[in-house]
Amino acid sequence: MQIEYREEPCRSALNRVKGMPFEWSLNPYMGCAHRCTFCYVRAFELRADRPADDRYGRSIRVKTNIAQVLARELVRPAWLGAGIAIGAATDPYQPCEGRYRLTRACLEVLGAAANPFSLITRGPMIVRDLDVLQTATAQAATRGAEVSVMFSIPTLDDEVWRTTEPGTAPPRQRLRALKELVAGGVKASVGMAPILPGLSDRPEQLEAVVQAAREAGAASIWANLLYLKPGTREHFLVALAHDWPEELDRYEQLYDGRAYLPAEETQPVRDRVRALAREHGVRDRRPPQPEPPPQPEQLTLAV
Ligand code: SF4
Repeated sequence: MQIEYREEPCRSALNRVKGMPFEWSLNPYMGCAHRCTFCYVRAFELRADRPADDRYGRSIRVKTNIAQVLARELVRPAWLGAGIAIGAATDPYQPCEGRYRLTRACLEVLGAAANPFSLITRGPMIVRDLDVLQTATAQAATRGAEVSVMFSIPTLDDEVWRTTEPGTAPPRQRLRALKELVAGGVKASVGMAPILPGLSDRPEQLEAVVQAAREAGAASIWANLLYLKPGTREHFLVALAHDWPEELDRYEQLYDGRAYLPAEETQPVRDRVRALAREHGVRDRRPPQPEPPPQPEQLTLAV
């Protein structure tokens, strides 16, 4: 598949975010060559009047100067060192990161500034940057803050993965990457999202992910079910009708007139994953991190 890469410098690196658990986000690329059928970003694309259908992920914007712009933004007096979410609108370790290394450059800038961040990805390429993640983790700790990585691993079911995530690496590769990061002292967790009703929510499927996450050393695990906002909805249902036509009725009923499933559908799955995490003992098992050095004391000037 031909993908176009548009090298377009950016004017700002950090985006202010509303209505999310984080206030600031950073995305070195816009658009994602992984092209998951369920990708929630398709909804943003539709709102921005860009293609959300099969054309999504075929044209990627590359913010070639993002690390330099980020470095300038982090030294502004108004910047108070808030946590930054990396990869909320595109995968920062999609294939072109191998060539452009923009995510790596941003992590270096954040590490040098001891600025905390969380990063979400489906890309095992992240192990290439273990060294900068280690530095950033140690630097953030000097301010009592944290660096963390979240691997999106909704399922280990090969058929579901292959069919819904046409461009990602196999989930077990992500688990191997997670294991390497944890062995290197980096905090890494698993987000099981989106879980697909009838396709990846069977108890044994849920348990397989939790067990594998525990074996890899995940610090925590959470789960969420598919939601379908306009833009994602049309594309996902077309793909579903093609790949699992027998499931179409179920989805049309479940998501009839709503984007999010009600609690009676989502809570049992979340509770099940939480219980499995407890049973399997999922927790942060990294060796104790060295205490950050004390902050220099403010000298009192004799007058
Ligand atoms: S990896 Fe994430 S951002 Fe990329 S297509 Fe899949 S869901 Fe969307």
